[in-house]
Amino acid sequence: MDRKHIDYFISVLGKDNVLVTEEERICYSYDGTFNRGLPDVVLMPEKTEEVAKIMKYANEIKVPVFPRGAGTGLSGGSVPQDGGIALVLSRMNQIKEISREDLLVVAGPGVVTGKLHKAVEEEGLFYPPDPASSAVCTIGGNIAENAGGPRAFKYGVTRDYVLGLEVVTPTGDIMRTGGKTVKNVTGYDLTRLLTGSEGTLGVVTEVILRLVPKPQTKSTALIAFDKLVDAARAIGSIVANGIIPVTIELMDDTTIHCVEANNKIGLPLDVEAVLLIEVDGKAEQVKSDIEDIAEICRKEGASSVEVATDKAGMDRLWKGRRAVSASVLQLGPTKISEDATIPRSQIPAMVVKLKEIAKKYDIPMPIYGHAGDGNMHPNIVADKDNPEEMARVKKATDEIFEAALALGGTLSGEHGIGLMKKDYMEMAYGKVGVDYLKAIKKAVDPNNILNPGKVF
Ligand SMILES: Cc1cc2nc3c(=O)[nH]c(=O)nc-3n(C[C@H](O)[C@H](O)[C@H](O)COP(=O)(O)OP(=O)(O)OC[C@H]3O[C@@H](n4cnc5c(N)ncnc54)[C@H](O)[C@@H]3O)c2cc1C
Repeated sequence: MDRKHIDYFISVLGKDNVLVTEEERICYSYDGTFNRGLPDVVLMPEKTEEVAKIMKYANEIKVPVFPRGAGTGLSGGSVPQDGGIALVLSRMNQIKEISREDLLVVAGPGVVTGKLHKAVEEEGLFYPPDPASSAVCTIGGNIAENAGGPRAFKYGVTRDYVLGLEVVTPTGDIMRTGGKTVKNVTGYDLTRLLTGSEGTLGVVTEVILRLVPKPQTKSTALIAFDKLVDAARAIGSIVANGIIPVTIELMDDTTIHCVEANNKIGLPLDVEAVLLIEVDGKAEQVKSDIEDIAEICRKEGASSVEVATDKAGMDRLWKGRRAVSASVLQLGPTKISEDATIPRSQIPAMVVKLKEIAKKYDIPMPIYGHAGDGNMHPNIVADKDNPEEMARVKKATDEIFEAALALGGTLSGEHGIGLMKKDYMEMAYGKVGVDYLKAIKKAVDPNNILNPGKVF
């Protein structure tokens, strides 16, 4: 990048917050996918006004800007595939207000999600969205991707908790949407539009998030099934019986074997699936819900039920689920984490289809994920440097998306479109829908400066 541009950024941010060496830039060239793109410069603002100046200047010199939180995204969303500016928001990491009366928290976009969880829980409050990456991912990244996570089954996703935003527009102006009230119908709902916009419509610089009281107690059950389809059917039965657990996580046999090989937790190795189910609430309700769930699952063919009510026991049961993402990498060096999502009633049909696809294309495909809300994570494990294998992966991916859409589902439940699924957008949205999305983008970002090439 031209030296005079670097000098301008140094005048705005100071030398320490403008990274130019190749070693430094490489650290911001990737996310949780196999996509890579080296930025020309990495900028680390701390204030909203600094972000606004950067966006205005980028429009003048027509250089693309790629917002970034922690880089844990699973869609290539923060990858600077065209060079340009990596705009890292991690220094905007202050929790500015926690209100027990208004049940909200005001925070910078760079706050790590797990730290926000801890801070509000110390006040007896609860922020439910909990992507499995919450130890490192940021609230800004969660808002841009409308992140979900295991607890989405009972509590919903990030969008359900965003009351208001401060945003720097793609052309460098500062705007506020929503506010501190739960009810707000003043104008179009820009808060909802921006939440899940994958860093293409604005840079989030402050958030107001809704909180709920912290649940009194919780309990976890690990339930094993000889047959995967029985586990899939049990999910619908639990809900049909009027119980809404916090989470229903599924792991198939391939996943279980990977986790056990790495962790020796004691998961059953002779079954086709396990469900990890958590309920929360008042103690009596939790006890009766978990008993009812055990009974329903036994009726649906469960071969064993293990219940934990204390922290150590629950941690042991959850350890296996937390280890999944790293453990499946023993099957191959490249993990393509899909998150096609279907209505809950279609989970049995989808798991059968996924197993067929894995067999047809002869690729390892552990199936796990937030099955309670139909958000399956079939993970294709392959080697990106093997073109013949990657051609089979492409065909398998096509069929996964076709199956999800045919069953009334969607391409992505929580990871976003980014670079990974944009070729399928017209199949999901139709041409009119995609043109509508493009028109919105063009109206607010006429120079196509902010995160170009993502979503469509
Ligand atoms: C092991 C693992 C487990 C995961 N589990 C889950 C899960 O359970 N549920 C789930 O939903 N996701 C999950 N993810 C995906 C990922 O963690 C989430 O998408 C998360 O929200 C990304 O946050 P981040 O801070 O890492 O964002 P990044 O990866 O840095 O960026 C993600 C997107 O947000 C944009 N962005 C970042 N900050 C801003 C900002 N301030 N303003 C505007 N745009 C911005 C970027 O441009 C990019 O498009 C997982 C990832 C991993 C690696």
